[in-house]
Amino acid sequence: MTAYEVINPATAERVETVHLLGVDETDAAIGRAAKAFPAWRAVAPGDRARLLRRFADAVDADLENLARLEVLNAGHTIGNARWEAGNVRDVLHYYAAAPERLFGRQIPVPGGVNLTFAEPLGVVGVIVPWNFPMPIASWGFAPALAAGNTVVLKPAELTPLTAARLAELAYQAGIPEDVFQVLPGKGSVVGQRFVTHPLVRKVVFTGSTEVGKQIMAGCAGQVKRVTLELGGNNANIVFADADLEKAAVTAPYAVFDNAGQDCCARSRILVQRKVYDKFLGFFEKAVKGVVVGDPGAEATEMGPLISAAHRERVESYVDDADVAFRGSAPEGPGFWYPPTVLAPIDPDHRAVTDEVFGPVVAVLPFDDEADAVRLANDTEYGLSGSIWTRDVGRALRVSRGVEAGNLSVNSHSSVRYWTPFGGFKQSGFGRELGPDALASFTDTKNVFLSTEGTS
Ligand code: NAD
Repeated sequence: MTAYEVINPATAERVETVHLLGVDETDAAIGRAAKAFPAWRAVAPGDRARLLRRFADAVDADLENLARLEVLNAGHTIGNARWEAGNVRDVLHYYAAAPERLFGRQIPVPGGVNLTFAEPLGVVGVIVPWNFPMPIASWGFAPALAAGNTVVLKPAELTPLTAARLAELAYQAGIPEDVFQVLPGKGSVVGQRFVTHPLVRKVVFTGSTEVGKQIMAGCAGQVKRVTLELGGNNANIVFADADLEKAAVTAPYAVFDNAGQDCCARSRILVQRKVYDKFLGFFEKAVKGVVVGDPGAEATEMGPLISAAHRERVESYVDDADVAFRGSAPEGPGFWYPPTVLAPIDPDHRAVTDEVFGPVVAVLPFDDEADAVRLANDTEYGLSGSIWTRDVGRALRVSRGVEAGNLSVNSHSSVRYWTPFGGFKQSGFGRELGPDALASFTDTKNVFLSTEGTS
């Protein structure tokens, strides 16, 4: 075991020391999860549902504590952190309805009966990034447990605290300890073991596209099932006929929420040329009004970046770009960075083509609908995006034209726990949330039962 200091990004002070697990401890945990699988899958659906509901209720009762822990560990604003803990509760309630509804089909065949069964996979490994530790963990573990799998979950090194608390709440609710285990550790150690261990039947990975590619290659060796939720570089497309002021005043939320450390951040704003300057005028006022500071204060809208190293990375995108205007940010000692707007900017600049993953947005003009779709798709990613227009036909045409998994029209909302979420292109594949996720935690078994006499 290695000691790892968890740092509060708002103050740069140590919060806690966590022990990172090694390969032997990971193997032992996976072994326990595999051993617990037959009993867990055999739990009557109604009882499994009840356990998940109790887990949801335990999260609800602990909501403020979980939220405060995330403020401390990840620098999330208290408002966001409460939403995140509430999302875990809701995701658990949603999938608690699943065990009693996971049934197969009877397909007419001559000479017998053909049945299908939705069989759980076994041990599922969930690998979580640091940007939304609570919701992303639950998007993996809730449907996996509901479908009858056991779960080993690795939080990101930087943000392990809420995952550990969620495990305690699961045990309080009566979920057996070997059915749901949280294993703090390095990606290269614990995460890799999920990929290479033959008893882990599926890996749910959320993180960078770069690591996602390694996970996919690693899982190929055992034809291991994999869901990949990877990076994004999302467009916020504003047409001249839109409610321009609404589009502009909501745009900061769409990119600076969670300090831009959001795979769905609309970090490229594409504005129809004839309203470009007018949009920038509204946008400047909104950006300068973003309240950046103590994430534990109720009025705060944006907290710090996760680490000094990440701030350096974000800064490196801005160094050689034109900053049109900026919001404010406190002085150190935390990892602060102000909301930053880049314009004018070359469409080939790294801040436009890469996922910056910070409070930095590029604003680019476009001429017509075809130009907007071309620019929006000029990226290897395809996760989310927004379209602002009053023309319903255009809204649908552009929605169909943009290569991304989650689009919003006249809105920036991307995530509802009962609708599917996931990427196109190098943003990954497989869907989380909604009914689609459940199917990815089972394999279909087909059984033909002959009704012909045997004598
Ligand atoms: P990351 O890829 O560095 O790490 C993600 C997780 O993978 C961490 O737990 C890490 O320890 C682990 N890991 C790292 N190397 C590994 C390896 N070789 N084998 C197994 N596990 C390994 O990503 P990050 O910096 O934590 O998160 C930011 C990235 O996550 C961004 O690119 C962001 O867009 C993406 N993200 C995507 C979604 C989505 O739903 N599509 C959601 C949130 C974040």
